[in-house]
Amino acid sequence: MKKWVYLFHELDEVEKYVGGNWDDVRGLLGGKGANLAEMTRLGVPVPPGFTVTTEACNAYLKAGGKFPEGLWEQMMTALAEVEKLTGKKFGGTENPLLVSCRSGAKFSMPGMMDTVLNIGLNDETAQAMIRLTNNPRFVYDAYRRLVQMFGSVVLGIPDEAFEEVLDEFKRARGAKADTDLTAEDLKELTEEFKKVVRKQKGFDFPTDPYEQLRLATEAVFKSWNGKRAVDYRRATGIPDDLGTAVNIVTMVFGNMGWDSGTGVAFTRDPSTGEKKLYGEYLLNAQGEDVVAGIRNTEKIENLAKQLPEAYQQFLEICEKLERHYRDMQDVEFTIERGRLWMLQTRNGKRTARAAVKIAVDMVNEGLITKEEAVLRVSPEQVDTLLHPQFDPKVIQEAKKEGRLFATGVNASPGAAVGQVYFDADTAERMAKEFKQDVIMVRPFTKPDDVHGMLAAKGILTSEGGATSHAAVVARQFGVPCVVGASSIQIDLDKRLMSANGVVVREGEWISLDGGTGEVFLGKLPMTAPSLEEQRDLMTLLEWADEICARPGIRKGPEGFPTTGLQVWANADYPKDARRARAYGAKGIGLCRTEHMFFEPERLPIVQRMILAKTSEERKQALDELLPFQRSDFEGLFEAMDGYPVIIRLIDPPLHEFLPSEKELQEQIITKRLQNLADYVLGKGESKDIAELEKILVAVEAMHESNPMMGLRGVRLSIVMPEIVEMQVRAIFEAAANVTLRGIKAKPEVMIPLTGHINELKWIQPRLEEIAKQVMKEKGVEFPYKFGTMIEVPRAAVTAGEIAQIAEFFSFGTNDLTQMTFGYSRDDAERSFLVKYVELGVLPKNPFQTLDREGVGRLMKMAIEEGRKTRPDLEVGICGEHGGDPSSIEFCHLVGNNYVSCSPFRVPVARLAAAHAALKHAAK
Ligand code: PEP
Ligand code: MG
Repeated sequence: MKKWVYLFHELDEVEKYVGGNWDDVRGLLGGKGANLAEMTRLGVPVPPGFTVTTEACNAYLKAGGKFPEGLWEQMMTALAEVEKLTGKKFGGTENPLLVSCRSGAKFSMPGMMDTVLNIGLNDETAQAMIRLTNNPRFVYDAYRRLVQMFGSVVLGIPDEAFEEVLDEFKRARGAKADTDLTAEDLKELTEEFKKVVRKQKGFDFPTDPYEQLRLATEAVFKSWNGKRAVDYRRATGIPDDLGTAVNIVTMVFGNMGWDSGTGVAFTRDPSTGEKKLYGEYLLNAQGEDVVAGIRNTEKIENLAKQLPEAYQQFLEICEKLERHYRDMQDVEFTIERGRLWMLQTRNGKRTARAAVKIAVDMVNEGLITKEEAVLRVSPEQVDTLLHPQFDPKVIQEAKKEGRLFATGVNASPGAAVGQVYFDADTAERMAKEFKQDVIMVRPFTKPDDVHGMLAAKGILTSEGGATSHAAVVARQFGVPCVVGASSIQIDLDKRLMSANGVVVREGEWISLDGGTGEVFLGKLPMTAPSLEEQRDLMTLLEWADEICARPGIRKGPEGFPTTGLQVWANADYPKDARRARAYGAKGIGLCRTEHMFFEPERLPIVQRMILAKTSEERKQALDELLPFQRSDFEGLFEAMDGYPVIIRLIDPPLHEFLPSEKELQEQIITKRLQNLADYVLGKGESKDIAELEKILVAVEAMHESNPMMGLRGVRLSIVMPEIVEMQVRAIFEAAANVTLRGIKAKPEVMIPLTGHINELKWIQPRLEEIAKQVMKEKGVEFPYKFGTMIEVPRAAVTAGEIAQIAEFFSFGTNDLTQMTFGYSRDDAERSFLVKYVELGVLPKNPFQTLDREGVGRLMKMAIEEGRKTRPDLEVGICGEHGGDPSSIEFCHLVGNNYVSCSPFRVPVARLAAAHAALKHAAK
């Protein structure tokens, strides 16, 4: 018979069953169950209990809601063992055992699934508990909680049905907080709650403890497929087939008087990463009171004064758990009459900033290795660290102007500016359908609100603390968040909020700073954060670079790089290159030279060059452009001193530098009408339209049906070589000039859009000739390369030939994706691609994440063929994919030397490159 149930002290048996792999232990017992078992083995005080495995959940769901054979019997045997361990009896009328029934999947899904507490209470066991504790208030509080939780979680009665009764009850008795209610009140309240069950369901609350246990277990199983859990899995990518485990744990009570309490804590500050205990607790309360943020909690350090012994023991346990798990822990505890019990430990969720600090600190403390530290921070987290902030000066100014609206707890850092919406559905709709920047505002959030929170740029609540639902979820997803801004009153009916007499209505703008907890009226400007100020991140990224630079970390056929990926940047101007270098780029992978042509002082010259009738006229215009280009390139070489700089020759179709046909026609018509009016009125000179008409004729002549597949890239260079000849001269003169000044220039000239070897054969020797000539003229030598972009499928397919001439390849995956799929990169995202991804026709937008099977396959083939011809072929990527972690991993696997991305993404790419190297390290 299959074993569906494991007692907490049976961890060895679990390990034997799954083959000793901890990941599989978590898979079977769920994260919570595995940790409870592990803590039990460590000698940490854990209330006795057992775990029903995820296999049991899956079997139950597969059978359409039937317990698999043997499950119930095994639960009964385990329960008998727990009775033995505790000396209590489930349903007993002398010393009754009460248990909780808690969900716990392999990956933590906070608040997404169900929990029922105080199972085992009924009128008889309640009497026994009163006799034992002499505390009827506590017993009836537990009892009414059971009826309420069981009613909502297991029987599906809306929370409000109970909340209304409770509120009414408190009002009638003049009670402010739940703690103001007496034992008698709570006894009556229990009866009232039972009436709610009868009224809503048509049957009585089940008083048989075994029936309670069975139904609660089923409810937890079913909650795996509840909407909340499914939505959460969609957002986090947790697979649907894992199932949840169910933990049946002896109840311990934090509400047994003022020597009891309950709390949650992180072993380090989850916002900043600082090494100090961070948490909250409440005396005489149950866990849900802390998490729900209903009563005002105490800071954990105050416990030292209130229950010093328990606090001391708690500190030691936290230290022990952190050392054991080698990570920051998020723990739940309860103190029952002075005795400490640990209810849960798990690796704590943290902000990106904290993740980096904790990883670096733990290396310095000798707890983890540099490799582990690098793997503990995700590229996405680095991305959030580089997200916008408010400049302190802006904040100061806003305060002076009286725009500070409210202040709350700084729950998740980052700046957010958006329009206010007061419920999750509207917030989501405004963000998705109307593309608005949204700030979701609620008194507090619940798991049902997660879709709105994910769609929002920022979250604001008027209630709750640093470990409230809103705070935890926001931190996890990197959404800036302020909670517990208690001066704010929210009127959900009137759809407005107010603080200190100022009213903000739905749809109005606010700005919030999740790092300081401040909320401002209106829109404040945001600034990009500076990497230089983030020491820990710099350290972590240096470790990432070190890992990538290790010889032997990759293995492959001849020519395959043995180190990991380098990260280069796409930069058109010296200032971008300087930023790229400051962010750690080891080269420029793409300088789009045509961007320089658009500068206002240059565009007229470019237009003159395009419209030139004779080669002579064209040359003259190009001579004027040359000094501009040369000085741009000098700036790039200076910024990248010692690193390679890939400069791409002109790529776009020429009409992009001229006004559009429509624009020209409009201008001509306007002028004609003016002339006509002037003629009729007999005043003024008629305006000259000949020039405009000349341009229009030229533009019309250049018209192409598919310009992206037309006269651009190398094709343009062959038809009109003068432009690229000028560019190559500018590149080499610039390189020569800076070399003479002691700078190490390494120019690499890149020819775009090659599809046939003959194109390179035609153009490249001419250009190399110019290069050599310039070096001769200037009397200097420096290393240089000529290479091509691989952006046309034919180039990829014939890469072996192309590498006979090209010394390097750079995959232009924007065009390569466009041409491989046959999707117009300018239109597809607007017209059908979003739908495709929504419908699952495509798993991801291929313009964001490289399509490994199609475009990627072409890349792999091109690299292999290319290196067969030229083993030292340098291979890079410079499409948008160069900054996308999954695409970077692919580039690592197929043997790119480097990836090139926008300067802002360089830090993200450095970490992603190291992750790829570690994940696939050559054995
Ligand atoms: C590309 O096609 O991937 C590329 C980098 O070139 P561009 O985006 O300039 O066409
Ligand atoms: Mg391109």
